[in-house]
Amino acid sequence: MTTATDPPPAARATTSRTGDVTAAVEAARRAQPGWDALGFAGRRKALNAWCALILRRSDELVDLIRAETGKTADDARLEVVLVAHHLRWTAAHAARVLGRRGVSPGLLMFNHAVEVTHRPLGVVGVIGPWNYPAFIPIGPVSAALAGGNTVVLKPSELTPRTGEWLMATLAEVTGGTRVLHVVTGDGTTGEALCRAAVDKISFTGSSATGRRVMAACADNLTPVVIEGGGKDAMVVAADADLDAAADAAVWAAMTNAGQTCVGLERVYVVDAVADRFLGLVTERAAALRTGDGPEADLGRIVLPRQLDVIATHVGDALARGARAVLGGPQSITPPYVAPIVLADVPEDSAAVTDETFGPVLVVNRVASVEDAVERANASGYGLGASVFTRDRSRGRSVAARLRAGMVSVNAVIAFAGMPAVPFGGVGESGFGRVHGPDGLREFTRTQAVTSQRFRPLMQPTSFRRRPGTMPALVRMVRTLYGR
Ligand code: NAD
Repeated sequence: MTTATDPPPAARATTSRTGDVTAAVEAARRAQPGWDALGFAGRRKALNAWCALILRRSDELVDLIRAETGKTADDARLEVVLVAHHLRWTAAHAARVLGRRGVSPGLLMFNHAVEVTHRPLGVVGVIGPWNYPAFIPIGPVSAALAGGNTVVLKPSELTPRTGEWLMATLAEVTGGTRVLHVVTGDGTTGEALCRAAVDKISFTGSSATGRRVMAACADNLTPVVIEGGGKDAMVVAADADLDAAADAAVWAAMTNAGQTCVGLERVYVVDAVADRFLGLVTERAAALRTGDGPEADLGRIVLPRQLDVIATHVGDALARGARAVLGGPQSITPPYVAPIVLADVPEDSAAVTDETFGPVLVVNRVASVEDAVERANASGYGLGASVFTRDRSRGRSVAARLRAGMVSVNAVIAFAGMPAVPFGGVGESGFGRVHGPDGLREFTRTQAVTSQRFRPLMQPTSFRRRPGTMPALVRMVRTLYGR
């Protein structure tokens, strides 16, 4: 029998020591020039072959993800679909985004030609969480590889086998040349990777760990991407399609048993439709089942300590006057938590301000959409958000006022299924972007090369310039920009 204190079954990997981490980084560094020399076309071919292999063996990956995280088969299948979708896009678009391009030299320097390139950084360290052990790392891993870097991945200590599976399948298509290395272990291994003189760290995990990662990287001035936690909010306007909004809210809050960084944790619904919305949410959430079997909608809560966080948030909210519309403390039966819907939760309680990371949805009524935006923005986090209104142009204008990295109008978490869309947050949710063109550029250094095509008539950047050169230049600039 599994108890809340048992680690997931497949989570027993050896811990990499500092020496192993150094060796992995050195091996990745040795492999990097050869991988870079393949060029965009060669790397695209290899990454596409990897994608095809992952899909051929997707049942294996689904089983592995399920064994390590206890998520439902459908949640694991969705993860594999996203892996393939993102990998394929990154492979296809790296050349266009990162390839050499000409840039106008501008009027003053018209005698030059300019080219801008995005060169690989070298070796990129990727530190991943357990909640989407294949999908989350594939963003930075595929972008770094497509750009000509090699990678050392430190998966979560709860999901080492998924990371190793990704490494082994890629090695199959690169003929044994390891361009992706994996080191396993807990935060100690993660810290060793931060200190191992890699050229960039892409970290995904809690904001608290993100701070420690930055501190470790500071010693070597290693740049970092921080994909931290979230406390995503949904704004429901009076004219919203309530059926669609309720369906989306329940899925976004409960999928992966609420253990999703861009999972929905707060809803601000306009008073006029609040009761109807709450009724629809409750009806849908009440129908969901927990368990490990094929009929389950919600799998287990992976981290035993998260059960305490969930219990504390729910208990504190209720003690401070919130209403339990569905479930309550009795819904927490380790390792499962059945859906909990809380209403009228004080805005300064932990269930509203802190990441709960469980199937708990706070639904608070508001006087207006403006009020909803203000409350949504009061969070220190700023990862994803959503807006429901039948007026799409109003939806976009509300979205523009939300302090979040990604906003979906009349949908939830839509951006995660779009490989061209940059993903990342603000504030406590971190900085830097994965996915899309921004995610590709994140693992490169930009280099500009200017080359003089012919000598100009006026030469202001020389001590041998003629006496009339500077006055003529000033006159020209005044004529051009002085009005
Ligand atoms: P975590 O912060 O506990 O661990 C994340 C990773 O960091 C793990 O691999 C861990 O071993 C490693 N780590 C721990 N201490 C370290 C240290 N001192 N130095 C270097 N590495 C260290 O997070 P978790 O529990 O694995 O994941 C859940 C969290 O991740 C949630 O807060 C969730 O919101 C967040 N998350 C964010 C995103 C995003 O894209 N923004 C995506 C998924 C999850």
